[in-house]
This record gives sequence, structure tokens and C-alpha cells, in this order.
Amino acid sequence: MTFNAPVGQITDTLNDIARIGDLAATGGFPNFDADLVAPILDEANKLARDVLAPLNAIGHKHGAKLTDNGVSAAPGFSEAYARFREAGWMGLAFPEEFGGQGLPKPLALAVMEMMHASNMAFALCPLLTFGAIEAILEHGTDEQRQMYLPKLISGEWTGAMNLTEPQAGSDVGALKTKAIPNGDGSYAITGQKIFISWGDHDMTDNVIQLVLARLPDAPAGSRGVSLFVAPKFLVNADGSLGERNSFKCIGLEHKMGIHASPTCVMEYDGARGWLVGQPNKGLAAMFTMMNSARLNVGLEGVGVAEAALQAATAYANERKQGAAPGVDGAAAIIRHPDIQRSIASMAAATQAARAICYACGAAADLAHHSKDPAVREAAKLREDFLTPLAKGWSTDRAVDVTNTGVQIHGGMGFMGETKAAQLYLDARILPIYEGTNGIQAMDLVGRKLSMNNGAAAASLISEARSCAREARDTNDPRFVALADRLDGALDVFGEATDWMLAAMKTTREAALYGATAYLRLAGDVAGGFYLTRSAIDQRGGEREERAYALARFFAEDTLAGASGHIGSITMGASLAEDLALLT
Ligand SMILES: Cc1cc2nc3c(=O)[nH]c(=O)nc-3n(C[C@H](O)[C@H](O)[C@H](O)COP(=O)(O)OP(=O)(O)OC[C@H]3O[C@@H](n4cnc5c(N)ncnc54)[C@H](O)[C@@H]3O)c2cc1C
Repeated sequence: MTFNAPVGQITDTLNDIARIGDLAATGGFPNFDADLVAPILDEANKLARDVLAPLNAIGHKHGAKLTDNGVSAAPGFSEAYARFREAGWMGLAFPEEFGGQGLPKPLALAVMEMMHASNMAFALCPLLTFGAIEAILEHGTDEQRQMYLPKLISGEWTGAMNLTEPQAGSDVGALKTKAIPNGDGSYAITGQKIFISWGDHDMTDNVIQLVLARLPDAPAGSRGVSLFVAPKFLVNADGSLGERNSFKCIGLEHKMGIHASPTCVMEYDGARGWLVGQPNKGLAAMFTMMNSARLNVGLEGVGVAEAALQAATAYANERKQGAAPGVDGAAAIIRHPDIQRSIASMAAATQAARAICYACGAAADLAHHSKDPAVREAAKLREDFLTPLAKGWSTDRAVDVTNTGVQIHGGMGFMGETKAAQLYLDARILPIYEGTNGIQAMDLVGRKLSMNNGAAAASLISEARSCAREARDTNDPRFVALADRLDGALDVFGEATDWMLAAMKTTREAALYGATAYLRLAGDVAGGFYLTRSAIDQRGGEREERAYALARFFAEDTLAGASGHIGSITMGASLAEDLALLT
């Protein structure tokens, strides 16, 4: 299980796409210095490469275990977590006030990408902690912030998100867990949650649960959902740990992948919890957690795709089969055009997904820190629009990329012990959790597209158009070819967007048949735009050739097929009855 992060490419993405220099110029990150980027990425790569990657297969084989004392993490994970915590990786982008380092979000995303790539099951634990931190930061009381944030941000404690119940999956509003006031400001939480990632473990002294539950007399559905914080060990006024709270993990799921991430059935039996935010407004707080988690799940996709790309490239260089021009005897399979195409498709999709995720993180930072209200508003729209793409598009591509990785390994890819097989199995959860990708597509066309009557899509199209103009203005035929493909895809995307905006107002149900195809096209176009952007920015530089090759492959392989999506996007208008016959 070797892994070495593509530090150069990550750095370029931070510069060309996240525009980390522009983020610093907002004045919102006084601790940031461009000279910090290289050492931070190098140190993170050391942990990913030397500590986490060697544990990935061990975690897959042994998994986490439920014992009489709770959940025990897979062998070596506690020691690895201690290294992660001591290096301060958890707090990179969180406020200094609570012990964080206050650095730009895309830099933290770059670091976490490496952790996901080297060991996705491990890195899911900090991912959930990020969601808990953001929910408390935004919706918690001052007392809750003081009590929980410093320990979560330092990594001394971790967080978990308790939304799902057997009857309440995508439909969170169907949840039944109850929270009854104790009369002292706390609530007694009773109910069962399922599929709770890292809901319990022995890597830290405390696990802080964020739990969705219903107050007595709460309205039915999602309008009656409230958010609570419930620590595994109650916290005394002086910050020391008190008695054990009355909830526990009563079972672990046996899963196809991410075996080292304990997926817990959590039983709450009058557990003490405290309201976070307003009564019955838990959905707003939940969206804070979920938006953070959605971007980070997209990033998991980038990491696992990068790992699959590296494994497939290494295998294709070693494995010899068949003849190739200029090679005596058997040639390494990397010499065959079909394998080269396969590896190029993995590389281009991975880089496009990376760019979409970093751009989303940068938009989130600008939306918070820009001094100009108009910039903040535009950035918020961009962040909202890119979030379902970061989650939906990147994770669908991660499944494609890991699948191609298995194919490149031939029969060896199907063997349980190969890394390619593990990565494929691990990646398969990504389109499912944190809102299935079908739900992401509905969110994109139902909410994100219609905000300000399509302003977010319009601004993305306009920015991509000026990037195409820049490519054309080089008068370099290679870049003009990029501009042609990008403009062609933007014509199609503009047409699809106009159709979708109108159809969602008039024939919403019919339009929803095309939501997934629309998300696919939107991600393709955003990916093509960002790859072209990087190719232009890298022109004349050390990595020009690779940046250009990625953009050109994606343009010919993906953007050229943009018009093929129109039928799938608009089919609900005429095919709804026929589709119903098939189901
Ligand atoms: C390994 C793992 C880890 C997880 N970790 C956590 C965690 O830490 N915390 C937590 O709270 N939950 C967690 N989950 C739960 C996860 O978020 C849910 O599984 C997911 O939201 C989907 O819910 P569901 O499984 O009930 O599927 P369902 O909601 O039953 O969906 C089944 C299918 O129907 C589709 N569908 C459902 N509703 C609609 C609709 N309205 N319109 C169109 N299509 C629809 C879905 O897209 C999906 O394809 C985890 C799950 C797994 C497997």
C-alpha cells in the first residue's frame, strides 16, 4: 500500500483554481504566508505516506471490533491518530480563538485529500469531527463553544453525526428519537440511530455526538427536528471528564468497504444532551454539518481516485503482456493504447474533481472573509452551486476511476488482496452517504440552480467563457482547440440550464427525471473549465505539458460528448409515461 501525494499538482490547484493568494488578500487569514504551503504539504504527505498508507490494508483486513468496553479501532489506528492529532492537522482551518490555525480552507482540503488517499477509513473520523466543529461554531452557545471546540479542534476528542434511523434515511424528517427536557437545561435522549460512522472508538478519551431528535409536541416531519450535543463522557465545569453518558454502540455493521471505520448502531437510553441552536430548527444546523461533510466526502472521492491512479500506473508499468512497437519481447501493458487511454481518463477525472472541490472550498472562504459584500454574495452562490457537484460528480467519478483501476489490473484486480480491489470497495460508499447522489442532483436543480433565478450557473458560464477567450487569444492552435471544446460544452450547458430553470417552474416532476444527467453535465463543464484554466496558468512553466495533456484529454474525451446529455436531461418532458411503464 504505497502512496505518495502529487504535491506539485496539488500546489498548482491551490494556486490556479483555489487562488489561495486572493484568499490571503482578503485579510481574513493573518497567519497565512505563501511560504507555509510547501512545508505543510510535505509534512502532511509524510504522515499519509509513512504512517497511514501502510495501515490501509491492515484496517481492511482486521476492521474495527466491538468489545465489552466499546469499539476498538483497527490495529495501529490509535497510534496513527495520536500522530495526526499531535501534528495539529485537525485545526488547520479553524479559528485561532479555539486553538485552530486560521488558515485558508483549501489548504486544509489539500491536507485531508492526502489522508483520504492513503487511508479513507481513518480519515473519515476527522471528517465527521469537522462537521461537528462547524455545527457548534455556527449554532452552539458560548458555553458549548468553550466546552467542546478547543478539544475537538485540537483533536483530543472526536465528533460523530447521528442523523440516520432505520425508517429515516434520505428522509431525515421521519426520525423518531425523542428528547425530553430534564428541567435543568439538559434533555433526555432516547432512540436508536444506525450507520453512525466512528460513533464510538478508543482512539480518544471522549466522543462528542451531534444527535437529531424530536422535542415533545414537535411538529411532524423535518420542521420538528432539533439538534443536540451529547458527549460520551459528561464534561465537568472545569473541563475534566465526568460520568459516562447513557448511550452506547450495540452493534457494528459488516460492510463491503471502509472496514476500519466503525459503522455503529447507537442506542440512546435517556442520554443527557443539550440543545444546539433553536428548538425545531435542527435542520438548519444539520445543513451546516452536511454542507461541510458533502464537500469533504467529495474530497474523499478525490483522494481515493488519486490512490487508484497511482496503483494502476505502477501496475501498468510492471505487468508485461503482448507486443508493442519498439519493444523486444513482452511489453509493459502501459505501452498499449487502451491502457494509456484508461490511465489518462483516471488522471483527468481525478484532477477535475480536485479542482471542483478546492474551488468550492475557496468560494466558502471568500463568502466568509471578503470585505466586499458583492463578492461575498457571489461567492456564497458559487459555493452553494459547487457543493452538490463536489459531492455528486466527484464521488461518481471516484467510483469510475477505481473501477478502471481494477480493470487495468486484469484478473489481479479481482483478487481480494490487491489495493485496487480495496479502493473500489471503499469508494462505493461515497455516492451513498451524506445525501445520496440522486438527492444531490435534486438539490442542484431544485434549490441551487433556481437561487437568484440561475445566477450561480450564469456566473460559472460567464467565467468559463472568459477562460475560453483567453485560451483562444493565445493564438496557439493547441489552446484554440481547448477553447473550441469548452465553448461547445458551454453552449450545451447554457441550453440545458435554461431548459431546467423553466421546467422546474412549470413541470417539476418531469424535470426531475433529468436531474442526475444535469449534474453530470454541470460537473463535466466545471471540470473542463478548471482544467483549461490550469493549462493556461501553467503555460511556459515546469508542469505545462501535464496540465495541457490533462485539459486536452478531458476536452476530447468528455467535453466533446456534452451534447449527448441533452436527451437525458430533457427526457422527462416527453418520456415520463414510458418510464413509468418500465418501473
Ligand atoms: C458506511 C455508512 C456510513 C454512514 N455514516 C453515517 C453517519 O455517520 N451518520 C449518519 O447519520 N448516517 C450515516 N450513514 C447513513 C447514510 O447517510 C444513508 O445511508 C443515506 O443518507 C441514504 O439513506 P438510506 O440508506 O436510508 O437510503 P434511502 O433513503 O432508503 O434511499 C434508497 C434510494 O432511494 C433514493 N431516494 C430516497 N429518497 C428519494 C427521493 N425523495 N427522491 C429520489 N430518490 C430518493 C436514494 O437516492 C437511494 O438511491 C452511513 C451509511 C453508510 C452505509
